[in-house]
Parts: sequence; structure tokens; C-alpha cells
Amino acid sequence: MSDADPSGSGADPDAGRGVEPTDPGADEGFEPVDVFPDSDDFDLRPGSDSCYKCSTCDTNCPVAEVDDDFPGPKFQGPEQWRLKQNEDDYGIDESVMDCSNCMRCDNACPAGVPLSQMHNTARGQYVSDEMSRFSRKYLRNRVLANYRLFARLGSKVPRLSNALLNNRAVQWLNERLLGITGEREFPSFAAETFREWWTARGGAAASREHAATARERRGEPRDADKRVAYFHGCYANYNTPEVARATVRVFEWFGYEVAVPEQGCSGTPMFANGMLGDARRHAETNVASLSALAERGYDAVASCTSCSMALRQEYPELFDIDGIEAAAAHTFEAVEYLRIHEDLRDAVADAEVDDDSAAEFVYHAPCHARNQGLARQSLELFRELDGVDIEDAGDSCSGISGTYGWKADKYETSMAIGEEMFDHMEAAAGETGMTECPTCAMQMEHGTGYEIRHPLELLEAALVDDG
Ligand code: SF4
Ligand code: SF4
Repeated sequence: MSDADPSGSGADPDAGRGVEPTDPGADEGFEPVDVFPDSDDFDLRPGSDSCYKCSTCDTNCPVAEVDDDFPGPKFQGPEQWRLKQNEDDYGIDESVMDCSNCMRCDNACPAGVPLSQMHNTARGQYVSDEMSRFSRKYLRNRVLANYRLFARLGSKVPRLSNALLNNRAVQWLNERLLGITGEREFPSFAAETFREWWTARGGAAASREHAATARERRGEPRDADKRVAYFHGCYANYNTPEVARATVRVFEWFGYEVAVPEQGCSGTPMFANGMLGDARRHAETNVASLSALAERGYDAVASCTSCSMALRQEYPELFDIDGIEAAAAHTFEAVEYLRIHEDLRDAVADAEVDDDSAAEFVYHAPCHARNQGLARQSLELFRELDGVDIEDAGDSCSGISGTYGWKADKYETSMAIGEEMFDHMEAAAGETGMTECPTCAMQMEHGTGYEIRHPLELLEAALVDDG
């Protein structure tokens, strides 16, 4: 679907930077003074000056914990910014590329310093000003950041791609030539992408009918105004369409008509690799689609917590695009949305799962879910579900952080960070993992060999399959 009217209410990030008149009598003919002239660079002085050097961010940084050479978030953010202010020709330190963009430091800072915004900005500047376009690292990072492009090509011939990418010789070459680790198995491309399934099923018209039938069953008016736009992201489209299908079916079960708008990558792997130009191009597509739908009464729901994080926090922090504030304000993580708008807890408490889906789960809350205040929602929800036991794998980072753990030079660090989570998973009774983040799922599976499920798959099994 292409929604062509993206007229949005994008807020001007420079708003408030002019000097306010202090003399009421001077209002007439007042000309604001532009203290910080318009610039493409972001001015982060207010946030930087709030830092009182307590180092809490450093003690919460999973990379700094295992990598003694990483200077930590305090240096990457406020300190580096001060150095840049004092020295005109100060170049961004290369170590900003070692930050995995887990965003834990944002949550840890008691002074509200916008650390990840500073890191993302500095990383973008480092890549554009200091990194050679011909270096192996640049090429590797560009490939990883643009996973969507390769997934699109690979999923045209999924069997061949899956065989090739997991061929030992190809993995060896990938590591030697590109610096992509050969220690991990590439995720398989699905034989049918989610969007192919969606189209074959009848698209929005079919969803409208399913939702209306569900509303009747629920005793709601058949024409009730319940609709959401699904932001499936790249991974659920190309690799785990079962998660995307479950999302659609669960929302329809609650009586929501689902729209699947035109969309690009959320930008998450691009932010982490300093590819802000690529991220902006995708953000423009996503903001145009989602803000136009927001005007027509659709909230957006994402099944990946890094996608919802990007749409609601990173976009407005980093870009000025028409409609960006509206798109951010109308975006939710999918289960969060149902918690807010439906009696999800009671629905789950009244359901049960059959033998195929009954299991003891061990749940990992992704860092980006924590940042959105969602760390406990799956645990609390599924504790009510008959036939299911669920335990928390603790509050450590999984260590993979999107593309970070796919870099050959970061693989060992990534596994060292993940060790605490692997230990907790192995100590738990369950041998099926659960998480909302597709790359955390890869790391959980890689470190323990467990099968990993998404909360929406379990909701589908409990509610939809249960009738
Ligand atoms: S985003 Fe994560 S890895 Fe980067 S500095 Fe902050 S806590 Fe450390
Ligand atoms: S936690 Fe916040 S205030 Fe403390 S050192 Fe880090 S940025 Fe500064």
C-alpha cells in the first residue's frame, strides 16, 4: 500500500534556540537572535553540560565491562563533545565504532544526558569524515548495515542463498575478505516472505473481513474503528515470517484491521554503523507511510523492539523530516499496544496452549525493550498462561547488538558479554528461549542451542489457535 499524503506535523528541532524577549513591551517587531545558527551539525551542549561525571554510564556499559580498551559512554558522549568544542580540528575518536549501540547508557544516566544520540551523531561524523571508503571495515559495515538489500536479493532464491551462505568455504571467504565472522550460522531466508504471504492472502481487504468477524465474536460492533499499521521490519519479512503472520493474526483476533504499509529498514543497523545517510533514506520512506496512516487513525505496531525504538526515539533525535513527531508518537511495540488497548492479561489467563506449544521458557529482555520500559511484560503476561512456565534470564545484554556480534573482530567480545545470559539460560528449568529481538534470538540460540520463540508466536498459539 502506498499512502501518498505524508503531510506531517514534524517539529522543528531548532525550535526554542532563539532568545525569548524579556521585555513585554519589546514584543512588537521583535527579531529573534539565532544564537546557534542553522547547521546540519547537532548542538548537544545542553545535554553535555548536564553530565556531572558520576561514571554510572560506564559501569552499565556491557562493552566496557569486557573490553579494557573501550573508553566507555562518558568519553564517547560528553567528554568527546567537550574536546570537540575546545579544539576546532578535533577528529572523532575511532573507538566510537566499538560502541554496540545497545543504548543501556541512556537508561543508566541519572542526569538524562542523551548519550546514544551523541554516540550516533559522533559515529556518523567519524564515518563520513575519517573512515576510508575503500577500507575493508567500511565495506563490511556497509554490507551489514544494509542487510535489507542483501536479504531482498537472497530471498529471491532462498534455497540457493541458504546453501551458499552456510557453506564453510563461503563463510571462510567472508571472514577473510570482509571480516564477517564465520563462527555464526547465517539465518535462513524463508521460502515465502511475509509480504508474499500477505498479498496471497488478500492484503488489507482480507484483514478487514477477518477483523470484522472477530469483532462479531467478541460482541463488538462489526464496523468498530479498530486499525493498526504493522511495521514488520526486515527480519520478520525475509527470515521469520511466522512472527509476522502471528502478529497479524493476533491483532485480527482482537478485532483490528491490519494495514501493511510501504516500509524500509528501521535504520537500526545503520545507526550502529554510522551510516546516517542510508538510515535517513529509509526513515523518509517510513515516516511518510506511518505519518500518513496516523492521520487516518492508524497507530503503528512493531514486533521487533529495536524497530519500535528507532521509530519512536532515534528518528526524532537524529532527523528533521516532515511528520517525524507524528510517526514517533503513534508507534508502539505490538504487545505493549495490546496491553494498553485490550484486556490482554485476562485473555491470556483464560487461554491455554496445546501440547505442541506447552513449554518451559527462559526469557531474555532485549536492551532496546528495557529502554522502552518493556523488560517485564512478557514474563508477567505468560505467567498467567496455562501450560506454560517462564523464567527470566537476568538483566544482562545478549552481546550481539544487531550487527556488532557479526564482526569478526567483535565476535569474542560479543560472546564474552553474552556469557552471563547463557549461564542464566542454562541454569533455568526451561530449554526454549523467548525474546522480541531477532538478533538476541540468534545469540541465544548460538550460545545454548535452544529453540527461540517470539512472544507473539505464543500469543497466537494461546489465543488464535485456541479459537
Ligand atoms: S550504547 Fe551500549 S555499548 Fe555503546 S557506550 Fe552505551 S552502553 Fe556502551
Ligand atoms: S551517567 Fe550521565 S552524568 Fe554520569 S558520567 Fe555518564 S553521562 Fe555523565
